[in-house]
Amino acid sequence: MKIAEILSRETVPTPGAYKNQMTGQNYTLRNQKCNLWTPAQVREILQNEVYIGSYICHKLTSVRPREMRRNDRSEYMKFKDHHEPLVDPELFQAAQEAIQLRGKRGIYQKEKSPHALKGKVKCGQCGYGMLRRGKQVDIYYCHMGDICGSHMRIKTKVLEQIVMETWGKLSEAGQKDWEDQAVKRNQEFLELSKAREEKRILEMKAGYCRTKRMSLYDYWKEGKVTKRNIN
Ligand SMILES: [Zn+2]
Repeated sequence: MKIAEILSRETVPTPGAYKNQMTGQNYTLRNQKCNLWTPAQVREILQNEVYIGSYICHKLTSVRPREMRRNDRSEYMKFKDHHEPLVDPELFQAAQEAIQLRGKRGIYQKEKSPHALKGKVKCGQCGYGMLRRGKQVDIYYCHMGDICGSHMRIKTKVLEQIVMETWGKLSEAGQKDWEDQAVKRNQEFLELSKAREEKRILEMKAGYCRTKRMSLYDYWKEGKVTKRNIN
């Protein structure tokens, strides 16, 4: 956590922010709120062999359109001495050993049944995801710690309650919306039927007038009525 903390405090741009600055493009940053480093970003850089002159490719495989899967490190394709190194290979190796020694503390284990809100809770201060810790008290907390500085935490039970209440309100609003639309649709249907009926009556009247005019014309030809009578 220490290196990420120092880089964040000294406002060194994160790789994403740096890319945006350099290219003028707007790549989505993991945290939209501020430019903070995570320990994972630091580890990624420390383990990236591009700094000792290797060119690495085949890191990702496309699974579906616009969806990539990160390959296992053993699947990477490596071209050594591709460019001038930035970091001394011995120093790089020392870093790898240090990482391995530290890494033994926490081995990632896949949860059997992940929590429904996993990956969906974000810290309001820094914008990074919040993690769940349930050993003594079951809570969600901002894992950015001092880097974020908010030390945001919320009991899982309270969070679930808020989510359920909000969900209830939203679906109620959705139901109301649907009902309003149904009333509107019904009204439109009634108006349309009425208009159709009026049209039908008008057409009948027009037909009647046409026949009447024809017969009056016949009468006029036969001299039974005068033009004044017709008008
Ligand atoms: Zn935070």
